[in-house]
Amino acid sequence: MEKIAVIITAAGSGSRMGEPIPKQFLTLDGKPILAITVERIADALPEAQIIVVVRSDYLGTARQSLAFYDLDKRVLLCPGGETRYDSVKRGLEMCGECDFIAVHDGVRPFADKSMINRVLKAAKEFGAAEPAVEPLDSLRGIDKNGSVPIPRSATRAIQTPQIFRANILKRAYSENEYHPEFTDDATVAEASGVAIHLVEGERSNIKITDKIDLAAAVAINRLNK
Ligand code: C5P
Repeated sequence: MEKIAVIITAAGSGSRMGEPIPKQFLTLDGKPILAITVERIADALPEAQIIVVVRSDYLGTARQSLAFYDLDKRVLLCPGGETRYDSVKRGLEMCGECDFIAVHDGVRPFADKSMINRVLKAAKEFGAAEPAVEPLDSLRGIDKNGSVPIPRSATRAIQTPQIFRANILKRAYSENEYHPEFTDDATVAEASGVAIHLVEGERSNIKITDKIDLAAAVAINRLNK
């Protein structure tokens, strides 16, 4: 049986939300967003080791938010870094022997079980996979002369979890220093020449970033009950 480790990135400061505590610790119907995210992943990947990366000054808050898990066995807490890239790198150091590594944003609490398994299946086949959805808005690229339309059907919005054969992701993070364009793990893997396989994501798999997202998350959470 293949071993899977999941790194849940939750070490952001959440400054765009304008709340005194980072958004991953805000609650939806009384439950911290981070706890809902961890529960979803634990349910979809019951054998996986889960590593939750949080800012070191929020380790206590995270411990409280995840109190219903067996924190010393199933879920490990890891102090995060300055950027998402640094946080994942620290999480990677805590992954034991494993065959696949998934990286998932702690502020995406609605990743669907069947979608997670679609991404895992593709990672097993292709080595690196991520969920993607076609944008609903019309799109434009910005350049120094103004803007140009980009055909919508030729673009995708990228979500998490992104899943990799463990050696692929570990090698990518050891070979590539931080770059501002590394906004996710696929971009780091690609810098090492890895091809990324896209699978169908879910519109409801939102990344809660600002108050509009939070309002949408309250509604999605109720729909899921
Ligand atoms: O900032 P961004 O929206 O890209 O963050 C995506 C995810 O990465 C969030 O779950 C956030 O908590 C996490 N993150 C992190 N460490 C950082 C910055 C962001 O784990 N230093």
